[in-house]
Amino acid sequence: MPIATVNPATGETLKTYQELAPEEIEYCLATAAAAFRHHRTTGFPERARLLGLAADLLDHDRDTVARLMTTEMGKPLAAARAEAAKCAKAMRWYAGHAEELLADEHPDPAEVTDSGAARARVRYRPLGVVLAVMPWNFPLWQVVRFAAPALMAGNVGLLKHASNVPQTALFLEDLFRRAGFPAGCFQTLLVGSRAVEGILRDRRVAAATLTGSEPAGRAVAAVAADEIKKTVLELGGSDPYVVLSSADVDRAARTAVTARVQNNGQSCIAAKRFIVHTDVYDAFAERFAAGMAALTVGDPMAESTDVGPLASEQGRADLEELVDDAVGRGATALCGGRRPKELPRGWFYEPTVLVGVTPEMRIHHEEAFGPVATLYRVRDLDEAVELANDTPFGLSSNVWTRDEAEQERFARDIEAGGVFFNGMTASHPALPFGGVKRSGYGRELSGHGIREFCNITTVWHG
Ligand code: NAP
Repeated sequence: MPIATVNPATGETLKTYQELAPEEIEYCLATAAAAFRHHRTTGFPERARLLGLAADLLDHDRDTVARLMTTEMGKPLAAARAEAAKCAKAMRWYAGHAEELLADEHPDPAEVTDSGAARARVRYRPLGVVLAVMPWNFPLWQVVRFAAPALMAGNVGLLKHASNVPQTALFLEDLFRRAGFPAGCFQTLLVGSRAVEGILRDRRVAAATLTGSEPAGRAVAAVAADEIKKTVLELGGSDPYVVLSSADVDRAARTAVTARVQNNGQSCIAAKRFIVHTDVYDAFAERFAAGMAALTVGDPMAESTDVGPLASEQGRADLEELVDDAVGRGATALCGGRRPKELPRGWFYEPTVLVGVTPEMRIHHEEAFGPVATLYRVRDLDEAVELANDTPFGLSSNVWTRDEAEQERFARDIEAGGVFFNGMTASHPALPFGGVKRSGYGRELSGHGIREFCNITTVWHG
């Protein structure tokens, strides 16, 4: 893929970039390694001061970077502004909490004296240069939720961003530089995915984090495994959204629309499979489909737009294929199921609800990365749990029920990294984020996230 800004609302190529030459990559690696030698010795107050400045700058630049994101990947402008605000908040959260999250741990002396220790402690030390391979869908947030804890822990970052968001990637490098982080603490590498292997194999790179698709995760994890380097993988999702008979159906249906079409339907934690108890199925289906059909699809820069274009022509083609495959095998669209005729330019797709989906259809098992929902009717709790888990993915899940026993059943049995009751999944700096099964491994955010790229060191005194 060329490294370029192509406006998905028009299909117009606005700016193209030359990939870094090998000697430029070498310079960045050397600069990162040198920066780590210094950055690891700085204290939490200094790192927090710099990250706080980055948050202030980001708040100041919110509108500018929001427009950049919308231009590069098509999310509605209001959502882009909200993403920038969320990033500033996460930076402040880590600036305020990192020291406490990484404080030395002191095991009970009585527990360790039989190891011969007079005393012992556990110290969290940074790992080094971390390569971050990131996707375009939340072009600021995905990076910041890695960078804020990594920088606070004393690591330094190399960003290989998705090839369609180069300007947002360069904005981030510039943001950290303007905040005062020394050269090399955070660098953007304008490279294609083919360059990742060589960078990851470089001895100066200690670890990698990848957010993106399963094939990309597999490729990066395979190289990292060969080099015995730590990875965190945040991959795809096909989250269930379960509505049981005690649910507030009205609220569940309204939230379902937002949960499905957030970010033009291109969110890993978007609810994708709607699994509804037969007692409330008809009421839910009618309200959900009506809500989806009523959304305004159009120019993402317009404040009135709910759903913008998909980020790429290929992304829309992939989504169309999934819908066509399902309809060809007998599924029905309650709404949507096609490109909007009134928007011939750009990569738009109508919000769609499919019913009659069966396991032979690709969409039953694959991730629909766009505004397309599948709706299923179930007879009881067991069937709901079984269907919710009938996916290769395990990122998050949503369950609408007021019954505590039903909540406990899902909290025990759902195969996912999160379960959100009577609401939709959202990430928050204080809560761990990540998946199981083919959604990846490791966690971001919270104390779990900041410790992923630490050397958990036993310090033993005889
Ligand atoms: P993608 O094609 O996997 O790209 C993600 C990043 O990986 C890009 O920087 C891409 O570079 C790079 N890449 C692709 N193939 C690679 C390879 N073989 N080796 C090394 N790097 C490679 O994913 P996407 O289409 O941008 O993003 C959508 C996917 O990300 C969805 O599946 C979504 O669910 C997932 N996602 C997951 C989370 C989460 O937290 N779990 C969050 C957001 C998105 P190029 O752009 O240069 O190809």
